[in-house]
Amino acid sequence: MNDMIKEKLGILTDSVSLESIKTHLKEMIAIPSVNPMDSAPRPGYREKEIAEYYLDQMNQLGMDVSSRDVTPGRPNVLGVVHGTNAGASLMLCGHLDTVPAEVYDDPYNAREADGRIYGRGSCDMKAALACYLEVIRLVKESDLKLEGTLILCGVADEEWQMIGSRDIGQHGPFADHCIIGEPSSLAVCPAHKGQYGLFIRTFGKAVHSSIPDEGANAIERMAKIVTALSDYNNELSSREPHPLCGHGSYSPGVIRGGDIASVVPDFCELEIDRRLLPGDTIESVHNDIERILEALRIDDPGFRYELSKSSWNIPANDVSVDVPVVRSLINAAEVLTGAKSEASAFPGATDAPFLGSPTIICGPGNLTQAHSIDEYVEIEQLERATLMYLHAVCDLLI
Ligand SMILES: [Zn+2]
Repeated sequence: MNDMIKEKLGILTDSVSLESIKTHLKEMIAIPSVNPMDSAPRPGYREKEIAEYYLDQMNQLGMDVSSRDVTPGRPNVLGVVHGTNAGASLMLCGHLDTVPAEVYDDPYNAREADGRIYGRGSCDMKAALACYLEVIRLVKESDLKLEGTLILCGVADEEWQMIGSRDIGQHGPFADHCIIGEPSSLAVCPAHKGQYGLFIRTFGKAVHSSIPDEGANAIERMAKIVTALSDYNNELSSREPHPLCGHGSYSPGVIRGGDIASVVPDFCELEIDRRLLPGDTIESVHNDIERILEALRIDDPGFRYELSKSSWNIPANDVSVDVPVVRSLINAAEVLTGAKSEASAFPGATDAPFLGSPTIICGPGNLTQAHSIDEYVEIEQLERATLMYLHAVCDLLI
């Protein structure tokens, strides 16, 4: 960044309107864009309405806007600021949906207190969406001449099947650099683990429970599987760690089997959650499990199990720590806080691996607040996020 751009960035920094960011954030919290999860969109689940709101805001800022329904009533929305020539492109992406808020007291009436803004979706992730709008306002109102292209992207359905980001990955737009402002407390996160789920099923022979020796109990067989897999995490921990993500993990999550106690159950099903490192494959996970479970046949010749296809499959994300967007955001964080900053892994799985562009996570708010019954974002984070994104725009697009 040369001295002239630094000077302009300094002027823009002084022009950040916290009031404007807070207003947009509160207006978005007031639209309950709850993900309908495994049902069709219906009244009360207002993803379409927040998409229309965001499209309108981008339009008012003079962006070239468009919308595309991923499925009926569930659009992705896009806004573009075109540069002066074919420079690099930067996409700022965020999901428009939230998780439900059944036990949350007045979740859609944004409340400001103690330097925080409370409300469902405040940190996850309407805060970043509001900061993006402020970045565009500042760019548009300044005399900054972008060479590259700046894209805002609001996507549907992050909290369930991620159909919005998968659609972007198929149809574009694509960018040289992409940031998702999921709540990382503004840590710069070029990597995260993947999330893979599958069902393990056991089978038996149903008989009256008064004569259990004449049947085969699928729940008892599953118990042997759960025990056999109890050392799997130790095995995963003994493998070479990823420099940012550490080790993969396994967790048995849901178990179902049997109908009534007077029948020996002939079926049991266990859903497991396996957190994948970059480089792990579905085949390697299945091979691990089969190797461990095959040993159970030795003592029980009738033992039979089945592994399902994935019930959940979000790949790991792994962008180099040396890419320009990571360096730019870390540099900005160090300037703004005066403290040393380093790239780290984001704890959860995100839209990033589906977008088709190299994507890193960096956003305002703390992940421990996301999905909580008292969700909030700190106002200081809103200002710092906006400045970090603005710094990246100046670094990468001018
Ligand atoms: Zn989120």
